[in-house]
Amino acid sequence: MRIPDKTKPYRYSLWEKLYLPAIFSGLKVTISHFFKNIRKSPFTIEYPEKRRDYGNRYRGYHILTTRPDGSLKCVACYMCATACPAQCIHIEAAEHPDPNVEKYPVVYEIDMLRCVFCGYCVDACPENAIIMSNTYDMAYFSRKDSIAGIDDLRKPFTVSQEWLGYRPYFPEERKVDLVKMAKERGPVAA
Ligand code: SF4
Ligand code: SF4
Repeated sequence: MRIPDKTKPYRYSLWEKLYLPAIFSGLKVTISHFFKNIRKSPFTIEYPEKRRDYGNRYRGYHILTTRPDGSLKCVACYMCATACPAQCIHIEAAEHPDPNVEKYPVVYEIDMLRCVFCGYCVDACPENAIIMSNTYDMAYFSRKDSIAGIDDLRKPFTVSQEWLGYRPYFPEERKVDLVKMAKERGPVAA
């Protein structure tokens, strides 16, 4: 094969230099989608007047659950903070006045701007002391506002069903037998 010893640079025509073909083809796509969308019902909603309903496994703003006496279920074991990949949970523990409970958190903070809403903290908690709600209203004017403390996260032990999001042992999950499903599916092809 003959290899050219000289390469000629591509010369743009005046029409191409004006970028008009690219602009018009881009506008054609945008305008066609615009008319398609106004014929269909819109995908957008008028938030916050209207709210989108998400599933009961939605991972939104966290909830620290409480005992019937209003005290936090959290025993400050640091399992959630250890499991957190974003390292956004800060806990300071103190000795609990009740000898049956070893520790409780005097400080429990989640930096919502660092949180990736993975739910690992919820999975790691041995006490069901942290769950996630389906609240997604999170907008902050400063970094300081984004840090949720105990007062922001604490919710009464009878949390409204509308609030609940991701939590372990969710009733729908109990209906799914993963081992049975795997056996029925058979060996996975390599
Ligand atoms: S949801 Fe994930 S990132 Fe957010 S606090 Fe929990 S473990 Fe950390
Ligand atoms: S929320 Fe759960 S995992 Fe985290 S410190 Fe409290 S008891 Fe431990």
